[in-house]
Amino acid sequence: MIDETQKTTQERKFKCWAASCGGCGDGPSREHLLSNCLFPDGVVRVKGFDWCMDETKTVGINGLARQILCKKHNSALSDTDAEAKKAIDLFQRSVQPLGGSSIGNKVDGHRLERWLLKTAINLAYGGKWHIGIGMHGSAPGLPPPYLIDVAFGKLPFSHKMGAHFLLPKKETFHDPGAILTFPLVKDGYIGGVYFELRTQPIFLNLFPGNAPPTLGEVAESLSLQNHLLDTELIYRPPNISTTLRSLAASMIYFDW
Ligand SMILES: [Zn+2]
Ligand SMILES: [Zn+2]
Repeated sequence: MIDETQKTTQERKFKCWAASCGGCGDGPSREHLLSNCLFPDGVVRVKGFDWCMDETKTVGINGLARQILCKKHNSALSDTDAEAKKAIDLFQRSVQPLGGSSIGNKVDGHRLERWLLKTAINLAYGGKWHIGIGMHGSAPGLPPPYLIDVAFGKLPFSHKMGAHFLLPKKETFHDPGAILTFPLVKDGYIGGVYFELRTQPIFLNLFPGNAPPTLGEVAESLSLQNHLLDTELIYRPPNISTTLRSLAASMIYFDW
């Protein structure tokens, strides 16, 4: 039997993170903090959000569900899930080197950025930090209206906010079934969120006009592999080549 008392409490507690921009509908969805369509059997290693402060938490993708978005807003973000899945599949693809004739694959960079942003908001929602630095209407644990509009594709990222890629010369060790993510926090503000999407490290910058040249400048204390700390950040690269055993395997072209 459903405990009606409990249900009412739960519904009262539910608040969609996009509510301040209007358009909520159809009640709470069971949004996964990281889209479970990406790899339902995979895990995510999360660290440094206030529900996993000092230790790296490894959670099955399906274990990370909270009621944080209404159904209407959740489904308005589903195109970003599809694009992230496509990109992540390419990032980890092991194919035979194709020589010079490789045609390559296209990824919609803006959609990928919107997925990174909504995932960052999912993880930080309800926490004690501001999401983004210096944004109008910002409050701890709540996305500011500007970032909500960017997540839904109504406004673009400007001032070098968005995806900065790390293209390290040395191969990065990674668990093929895992996504790693943590926020970079300064004085109570999340200035950016680091993601390792299988083979590809990406820094989502949320500090207008202030992208760090390398993560070593801002993330010294974080447990990143050393060579990643010195790797230059490249803002919205037009293309990257995925490698397999140090050989160029295929190209990924981004639309920005
Ligand atoms: Zn708005
Ligand atoms: Zn909503």
